[in-house]
Amino acid sequence: MGRIYQFDVCAFLVLSIIILSMFVRKLVRGRTNKMFLALVIITLICTVCDMLTVAPLTTFGHVSVGVRIGASYVYYIVHASLLPTYAIFIGMVSGTWYMYMEGKPKVKLLFSLPYILNIALVLINPVTQWVLRFPKGHYDRGPYVWILYLIALFYMLQTLTYLIKHKETIDIARMFAFIAIYPILVISAVVQYFMPNALIEMFAITASLLILMFFVIKPEESLDTAIGTRNMTAFKHDSKKLYYKGNKGSVLLIKVKNDSSLVTLYGLNAHQEIIKKAVQRMERVLRSQPERNFVYNIYYLSYGLFAVMLHGNYSADVICDGIEQSINKPLILGNISFTFENSLCLLDIPKDIGTHGELLNFVDTYDKSEVESGSIIYSNLEERDKIRFKFDIDKYIEKGFANNGFKVYYQPIYSIKEHKFVSAEALLRLIDDEIGFISPALFIPAAEKSGAIYQIGDFVIDTVFRFIRDHNLSGLGLEYIEINISTMQCMKEDFVDSVKKKMREYGVSNKSFNFEITETASDFLSDVLTKTVSKLHKAGIEFAIDDYGTGYSNLQRILQEPVKIIKLDKSLADDIGNNRTRAVLKSTMQMITEIGAESVVEGVETKETADWFIEHRCDYIQGYYYAKPMPEDVFVEFIRENNAV
Ligand code: C2E
Ligand code: CA
Ligand code: CA
Repeated sequence: MGRIYQFDVCAFLVLSIIILSMFVRKLVRGRTNKMFLALVIITLICTVCDMLTVAPLTTFGHVSVGVRIGASYVYYIVHASLLPTYAIFIGMVSGTWYMYMEGKPKVKLLFSLPYILNIALVLINPVTQWVLRFPKGHYDRGPYVWILYLIALFYMLQTLTYLIKHKETIDIARMFAFIAIYPILVISAVVQYFMPNALIEMFAITASLLILMFFVIKPEESLDTAIGTRNMTAFKHDSKKLYYKGNKGSVLLIKVKNDSSLVTLYGLNAHQEIIKKAVQRMERVLRSQPERNFVYNIYYLSYGLFAVMLHGNYSADVICDGIEQSINKPLILGNISFTFENSLCLLDIPKDIGTHGELLNFVDTYDKSEVESGSIIYSNLEERDKIRFKFDIDKYIEKGFANNGFKVYYQPIYSIKEHKFVSAEALLRLIDDEIGFISPALFIPAAEKSGAIYQIGDFVIDTVFRFIRDHNLSGLGLEYIEINISTMQCMKEDFVDSVKKKMREYGVSNKSFNFEITETASDFLSDVLTKTVSKLHKAGIEFAIDDYGTGYSNLQRILQEPVKIIKLDKSLADDIGNNRTRAVLKSTMQMITEIGAESVVEGVETKETADWFIEHRCDYIQGYYYAKPMPEDVFVEFIRENNAV
C-alpha cells in the first residue's frame, strides 16, 4: 500500500509557517483574522491526523493501530467544521453575516444541519462502519462516504451563492481569492476520490489558505491592534471605495471628548478595554436594526474618535440616535464606571461632502475642533458649516496677515502664595472682518500643516517682546510672560538663534518670558525637541509643559528635561468632582514639587475649584474665575488695578 503522504508533510510545514507568521505579524486580532486562524488550525489538525492514519507504519516510528484509528476519527470530526467555518469567514469578510444569523434560529439550524449530520455519521461509525473502516488495521473508506462529499458540496454551493449575492461588498482581489479556491478544492477532491492513495486534499486546502492569506487577511496597518477594530488606514480605503463606486452612504463620526481623562485616570489598558466595550455597544445597535440589507463598519480613527460607515437601506437618524443613547450610558469595567461625553456628526455621502479628499479633511478638522458635548450635529444644520469652514482657514490666515487681523491677548495667572498676578499667558487671536473671531484651536493646527506657523510664531514672539520692552514688567508686579510655541516651530533649525537675536534686538532678558510646549506622543519629535530645549535652557530660558494630564504626557521624559512649570490641563480642573481625579491631582502636584518645578492649573472657572487648588497647594491658577484673556491695553489696566501698583 504505497500511500503518497509527502504532500501532507509539505502542507504541515506551510501551515506551521502561516500560523507562526500570523502571530509574528500580529494578525490574530479582529474577528475575521481569528476566523482565518481557526481555518488554518483545523487544516493543521486534519493534516497531522491524515499522516498518522495512512503514512507507512515505519515512517513515524511505531504508530499503533489504535492511534491510527483514533487519528482518523479526529480527522473526520475536525474536518467536518472546515467548510462551515469557511462560510462564516466569508460572511464576516463581506460584513453581511449578521443579516442571516442574528436572531434567526431557523436559518442557523438549516445552516448547521448538514454539519450535525456529518458529525453524527462519524460518531455512529464504530457501529455502522458506513464512512470509514479498518480492515486488517488499514484505513479504508466506507460505502456511504459519498454523503460526506455531498455535505461538502452543499457548503461549497452555499458559500458560492453567498459570494455572488454579496459581490458588491467584496473587492476584486478578495473575490478572486475566494473564487480561486473552488477549482483547487474540486480538482483535489476528484483526484482524491479516484486515487485514494495520493493524499493531496490537505495540500490543496493549504494552497487555498495561502492564497487567502495574501489577499484577504488584513495587514496589521488597517486594524487598530489594541482595539481590534478597523483604523484610519482602513477608513481611508473604505471611504474611497464608497466614493469611487458612486454608492450612497453615511459616515457617522463619534468623538469622545473626555477620552484623555479616561487615560489619565485609569491608564491605557483600561482605556483600551472601555473603548472595546463602546465598539461592542455600537455593534449591538447596528445589528438590532429592523432593516437587514445594509452594510456597516466601525472604525477607531484616533484617540477618542470613532466612525461608522454605512451603505444600503437603513435609517441614518435612528441609528445615530441609537448609538448616541447606547454609548452615553456608563461603561463598566471591573469597579470602574466611566461615562463618555460625546459629540456626534452624521454625514450624508456624497450629498454633504462631495469628494473623498474633502471627507478626510473634514474628519481631521472634526477631530481637532471643540464641539459641544452631547450635541448631535445633523448634516443639514448650520453647526456643521462652522467646522467645515476650516477648509478655507488658510485663506483667513493669509488675510489675517494682510489686514492686521492677528492680535496677542494676555490671560493673567494668579500666584496663590503671593496673592497677586505674577505672570500671564500670551494667547493669539485671529479676528476677521467678515466672520469675526477665529479660534486658535482651529487656525494653529492648520498653520502647522501649511507652514504658516513659522510666520505666526515670529509674530507672537515679536509682539510679546515688544510688550515686555515697552512696559516695565516688574513695575506691574509681573515676573514673566508665557509664550506658546508649537513643536513644529521648535524643530526649525534656526529657532534658537532667531530667539536669541530677537532678545538682543528688543533688549529682553531671559527671565522675562518662558516657553510653553506641549508634550507629544511621538518619540521622533521629542529627540529634536530635547536638543532645542536644552540649547534654549543653556541660554537661561525656562520652560513650561502645557496640557499636562491629557493622557499623552510622558512623565519619564519630562523628568529628564529641565522644566520650570507644569501646567495641569483644564480637563483635570473640570473633573475635580471625581475622587480619582482628586487623588491623581494630589500626587501629581506633590511630584511636581519634588522635582523642583511649579504647578499651574488651567481653566479654573469656579470658586469651589479655585478653593480646592488653593487648599492643596497648587502654585498658580489660571482661568476665567480670575480673568479671561484680554487685549494688551485692557490687560495692563487690569493688572494695575488688581496688583495695586
Ligand atoms: P492652551 O495653551 O492650553 O491655552 C489655554 C486655553 O484655555 C486658551 O484657549 C484660553 O483662552 C483657555 N482658557 C483659559 N482659562 C479658561 C477657563 O477658565 N475656561 C475655559 N473654557 N477656557 C479657558 P485659546 O486662547 O482658545 O487657545 C487655544 C489653544 O491654541 C491654546 O491652548 C494653544 O495650544 C493654542 N495657541 C494659542 N495661542 C498660541 C500661540 O501664540 N502659539 C501657538 N503655537 N499656539 C497657540
Ligand atoms: Ca498654553
Ligand atoms: Ca493648556
